[in-house]
Amino acid sequence: MYVVYSDKYKEHYSSMHHVENPDRLTRALSSLKGEKIVEPIKVDDPQIVHSEDYVEKIRNIKGEEWIDADTYANDKTYETALYALGGALKAFELQGFALVRPPGHHAGKNGRAFNAPTLGFCIFNNVAYVVRKKALKHVAIIDFDVHYGNGTQEIFYDDPEVLHIDIHQDPKTIFPGTGFPEMVGKGEAEGTKVNLLIPPRGSDDLYEELFPLIQSILEDFKPAYIIFSAGFDGFKGDGLSSLNLTEYTFYNLGSLGKGKYSSGVLEGGYGIGLERGLPAFIKGLKGEATDYVKEKSPDSVKSRFFDYLEKEKEILRNYWKI
Ligand SMILES: [Zn+2]
Repeated sequence: MYVVYSDKYKEHYSSMHHVENPDRLTRALSSLKGEKIVEPIKVDDPQIVHSEDYVEKIRNIKGEEWIDADTYANDKTYETALYALGGALKAFELQGFALVRPPGHHAGKNGRAFNAPTLGFCIFNNVAYVVRKKALKHVAIIDFDVHYGNGTQEIFYDDPEVLHIDIHQDPKTIFPGTGFPEMVGKGEAEGTKVNLLIPPRGSDDLYEELFPLIQSILEDFKPAYIIFSAGFDGFKGDGLSSLNLTEYTFYNLGSLGKGKYSSGVLEGGYGIGLERGLPAFIKGLKGEATDYVKEKSPDSVKSRFFDYLEKEKEILRNYWKI
């Protein structure tokens, strides 16, 4: 598998300790030995996704600056983010994986999306850029970062050509505080935005319940392309979430793209998720055999999950053959 990577992705950093730091890529690369590394290209048109004002704001950053309470930038951020967009684009063309930063799925048209408190470490929306740059029709974005991809969903909220399936920890318990199943898109796009929730302390057995549902929606929509917004921060012990996922789930998520025109772009994942979740996801994409064992959730968590799922199915039945 082609992995798009450059040391340039390390030039966006903070002098203060931050979980979203260049070392993430070192850890991720060490888990992907044997894959073919290719250099990204740099693009110059982030405004096909973002407003001129927002692009200007990022371009004009001088020295180290905090854009908001979570998100830093430095004088290399703008250029690094352009390489991240180009990396996502190249990974799409090669049907590979973009090992890029800064991440993108929380970045909406004007920056913060759906009234989120912050940009959540993101600068430009890498996945949205691919869809716009290639003018993709009938594309499915599957976002399995533990946080809701509010930026991506906001950008495509009224676009019926983009099926956006976003699986995330219950937003009542985690950033960015939106991403409920009732958010289904608007106008002609109603129904093409699918938000699936996992309660805190949820594990592999709950994701496994979601796969038949996701498969049915994909079979109904029949996407020409699948792009994964690939976050590994739901891995047990990765640090920022309360989920307990293992290789088992990331492998199955990768399998959703197996044999299809698919590519992936790195979002979150800050520690063990990059070392163990990422290679499992790649194995799933490639269809390699494995013997991962699933981890189970506590019964109380499971019953809350099934309450959510019932409600989600009720909404989804209005739009999909599930
Ligand atoms: Zn995340």
